[in-house]
Amino acid sequence: MASSNNFLTNSDKVNMKKWRVFLIPYFARSHLIPMTDFAGLLSAKHPDIELTMVVTPGNTKFITTSLDKYNDSAKHPMQILTYPFPSIGLKPDVETVGIGNSAESSAIDEASHMARPGLEQLLQQHKPDAVIADVLFPWITVIAADLKIPCILFSVFSNFSMLVLDCFQKMRVCPDLLDHVTVLGLPGPEIRMPVLELPSFALKENCVFSIENIHKSGLDAFGIVVNTCRGVELEYCDEFEKTQARRAYLVGPVTVSYPMYQHSIIERGGEGEGEGETSCLRWLDTKNERSVVLVSFGSLCVFKSAQLHELAMGLEGSRQNFLWVVRDVDQWDEWIPEGWEERIADRGFIVRGWAPQLAILAHAAIGAFVTQCGWNSIQEATAAGVPMLTWPLAYEQFINEKLLVDVIGCAARLWEGGKRSTIETENELVPRSVIAHALSRFMEPEGEFSSVHRKAQELGPVARSAMADGGSSMSDLSRLISDLITAMENKTCQ
Ligand code: UDP
Repeated sequence: MASSNNFLTNSDKVNMKKWRVFLIPYFARSHLIPMTDFAGLLSAKHPDIELTMVVTPGNTKFITTSLDKYNDSAKHPMQILTYPFPSIGLKPDVETVGIGNSAESSAIDEASHMARPGLEQLLQQHKPDAVIADVLFPWITVIAADLKIPCILFSVFSNFSMLVLDCFQKMRVCPDLLDHVTVLGLPGPEIRMPVLELPSFALKENCVFSIENIHKSGLDAFGIVVNTCRGVELEYCDEFEKTQARRAYLVGPVTVSYPMYQHSIIERGGEGEGEGETSCLRWLDTKNERSVVLVSFGSLCVFKSAQLHELAMGLEGSRQNFLWVVRDVDQWDEWIPEGWEERIADRGFIVRGWAPQLAILAHAAIGAFVTQCGWNSIQEATAAGVPMLTWPLAYEQFINEKLLVDVIGCAARLWEGGKRSTIETENELVPRSVIAHALSRFMEPEGEFSSVHRKAQELGPVARSAMADGGSSMSDLSRLISDLITAMENKTCQ
């Protein structure tokens, strides 16, 4: 039996048994990526735990590249097992939110609970010693309890957003009756938000991703792993541990563990889909330190053509260097301004499709990041010490923005005016003049946002040191391994 920390004694090694743990990510890239990185961490820290990633066939290609990088040095290479994607009438390879159009993505989210029978059958057949599953599969706790194996949930959301949503859910906020709501009972400054900025679907009862169900499964599960770091989320971590989980393990930012993170070129799953895989990094090499704005909106959200047109004009008007990742390339000719590419050629770089975002953010030329406030992107920027200009669009992104701008102070809102909402059709168009002005003010050396830049730079070493030996995230990882092995050995799931 392994000792209670990460160092194995000789007798541990002799007596050690191989444990089989299955990891089950949700079908979205922003969930597949951190779970793969977490698996890599686990495998490196305790090589005698045998790990298997369980995915639908359409998601194997995406994670294979990342797993291969970890497996190069692994004692037990991580395996992949597949279960059938729910049959909902989508095209054969559309099994990932954000890959097809918005309607297809919504259909995948809506069908997520239909994955249950396939997963249940697979787990019954293979009988692993434990499962680690995405929080968006809250019913996995019931399957694990039937199998009498410990179930760990894996959260890619900030503790802050989960606490805020849990408060709103308990307050039974009725979105139709109120303009603003104030969170009661959280540490830190008062949190007050427009109702339109809340993910209303999550607050409804009986919805696929109901916060009530996620909260309940968090307390039923053996524990929760959260991709976050104590030094960044501070008192919200203590509050999360007290109220949201039987045991919480805060192990992030997991991307910092990605092989070769310290080097300038980082490739990961999705290679070959974007045209800027490494050429954008070579272009960054030609730019001065902290002189380029990265503009990227994650793996899920898309813009209307009119907004893409305004954004293009705003970037041009800002007179800043920029690297723009454009996922919505299908109707390119519909919205790209005439002569625009020639006019911005010396200071703008477009990546069409998928970019190596982790490597871009870690590049010295990046001075700011216009982001939709997905938690993975935030952590990647935080670890790299890059300040953010926030442009949230959906889900819990407005809540993350609140944390960054009003609590931590490492970001500024791109637009304070106008109607903003998690519902796409309610959003007002962000005008080109606002975008141009926001970027040029934000990039001004020693300008009005210098304290935001300083805060972001201070947080970089805080986030990275959490993942170093002796750091808080590594200690939580060791505690997780020790608790899990004890539970597997005693065959308890509580
Ligand atoms: N990402 C990437 N290349 C892209 C777009 C996104 O590598 O072109 C990665 C990004 O680094 C992050 C994830 O995809 O790890 C996006 O996660 P996030 O939580 O920021 O946003 P979401 O996709 O859920 O909106």
